[in-house]
Amino acid sequence: MCAAVAENPKLHRIRHSLAHVLAQAVLDLRPGSKLGFGPAVDDGFYYDFILSKPLSEEDFPEIEKRMKRIIKANQKFEREDLSVADAYSKIEKMGEPYKSEYAKELAEKQGLNTISFYTNGPFLDMCEGPHVKSTKEIPPGAFKLKSIAGAYWRGDERNVMMTRIYAWAFETREECDAYVKAYTDALKRDHKKLGKELHLYTIDETIGKGLPLWLPNGTVLREEIEKYMKELEFQGGFQRVATPHITKTDLYFKTGHLPYYKEGMFPAMEFKDVENGEERLESYSLRPMNCPHHHLIFKSIPRSYRDLPLRLAEYGQVYRYEDSGAVSGLLRVRGMCMNDAHIYCAEDQIEKEFLGVMKMHKDLYDTLGIENFYMRLSTWDPEDPKGKEKYVDNPDAWEKTQDMVRAAMEKSGLPFTEVKGEAAFYGPKIDFQFRTVTGREETASTNQLDFAVPPRLGLTYVDANNKEQVPYCIHRAPAGTHERFIAFLIEHFGGAFPTWLAPVQTRVVTVSDKFNDYGQKIVNDLRANYVRAEMDKGSETMGKKIRIAAKEKIPNTLIIGEKEVTDGTITLRRFGQEEQKTMPVAEYRDWLLNQIATRTLK
Ligand SMILES: [Zn+2]
Ligand SMILES: [Zn+2]
Repeated sequence: MCAAVAENPKLHRIRHSLAHVLAQAVLDLRPGSKLGFGPAVDDGFYYDFILSKPLSEEDFPEIEKRMKRIIKANQKFEREDLSVADAYSKIEKMGEPYKSEYAKELAEKQGLNTISFYTNGPFLDMCEGPHVKSTKEIPPGAFKLKSIAGAYWRGDERNVMMTRIYAWAFETREECDAYVKAYTDALKRDHKKLGKELHLYTIDETIGKGLPLWLPNGTVLREEIEKYMKELEFQGGFQRVATPHITKTDLYFKTGHLPYYKEGMFPAMEFKDVENGEERLESYSLRPMNCPHHHLIFKSIPRSYRDLPLRLAEYGQVYRYEDSGAVSGLLRVRGMCMNDAHIYCAEDQIEKEFLGVMKMHKDLYDTLGIENFYMRLSTWDPEDPKGKEKYVDNPDAWEKTQDMVRAAMEKSGLPFTEVKGEAAFYGPKIDFQFRTVTGREETASTNQLDFAVPPRLGLTYVDANNKEQVPYCIHRAPAGTHERFIAFLIEHFGGAFPTWLAPVQTRVVTVSDKFNDYGQKIVNDLRANYVRAEMDKGSETMGKKIRIAAKEKIPNTLIIGEKEVTDGTITLRRFGQEEQKTMPVAEYRDWLLNQIATRTLK
């Protein structure tokens, strides 16, 4: 089977021909293996097998060696078109059950009259091509085996699991090397890999899938982000509240989360509650969102226009059902803590509040040096046939609120794109989109304008004319959830966090034990100033300790020897820099405290 001809037909022929070369090499190494499909893909090709004996990535050098030998042999690719009957008997002789199944489908379901085959050297494949004329056309050294994975025959989980071997392939060796290097460099930043290496979080199946345990180092990241957001929110006029994780299921029917959001929620827990001697069946749910709780805080006392805008903020823990197959690292989890807040306001306050939210985003992103993101305005889709299940049915309110958000976005001067059909069920939203190291697009945070839920829950305030009005609600979460935002930050910084955010801000390394007292004094002084400082008291050499600190990506390592003790100085080595700088202890402390206080990036 051949993939659609790629934009570059020559490269496509090379990749697809290499798939045949791979299959030939694998059959050579594992005689009796059966063939699945072997198409060209975006960055190379793959081939699926039922192997007579397993292969692993350790076998890659051997497979590559055999492939190179095949390429060198100048095998010609020869095509043969056979009638269906002849094709069936040829496949019979090949003894390839999956090719046979596919041939029948081509003839019976797709109505093909002829089926084509390609031979190169001893290898025969049922295939529609196209291929290179000879393996001579395949550029030497411009391919590399990438990985091995399980794949169901024809992508259907009811079918047998095959072994898929992936490879990269390009037109030149240089292109291939550059691509492989960029890929492996990106993978070094993967948050799952760094999360483990830097002891940030762990997932224990005893606790459950998608329920990360934050280790001390990762907890520092959470708390620093939280502290910063609380400062921004304090300055932005937000008030903090605290609310419970579980709630009567009934509430979610009132808000409309049920049934709109049913698939994202864990099933309710039911139990008997006794009140005034009477037994009642109660149903409680883990909350998927904090909004209803904040709405009810708004409603807890009579509100007047003088209270607006009322901004209620909470780092709130929520639980959402994710399919176990989708759960992954910190990006797809089932329990998450959200930088949540709800702004209750009158219609004429929406624009100003929305701009304030955008400004907070910008401040946060500037502090973290985040530039590679874009914003997306998601609107409802009036033509969506399932629209009534997905959105609150109020076309006028949709049009009006979308116009308001669009106008505010235009005023903010921040670039954005617009997509239909991605809105929240209760109103339009602005998403901040970014890409993971593996190229997948993800949403870092969301801001929504809600016209639907406040009236459903009966939220009101009295305006200046003593008339009852329903407030609008802006849902906003600039730092998203800790889980997702920190996954993003780990990859953004490649694990080398700026000093203010780093789990260890200063590591002291002494040339010999006899300088430990001096080193410890520096650590104690820094810790008295709330700096996360520590001393490496291990028995390794100084050089080794410096390498360990670099491996742990500690931003500031202090080296203490005879000279430093005599002069009352330290020698500073910053992460990623070769040169060192010696300075008085007090000068270092002042510089460091300033770095932390101003959240300096570099
Ligand atoms: Zn082919
Ligand atoms: Zn909300």
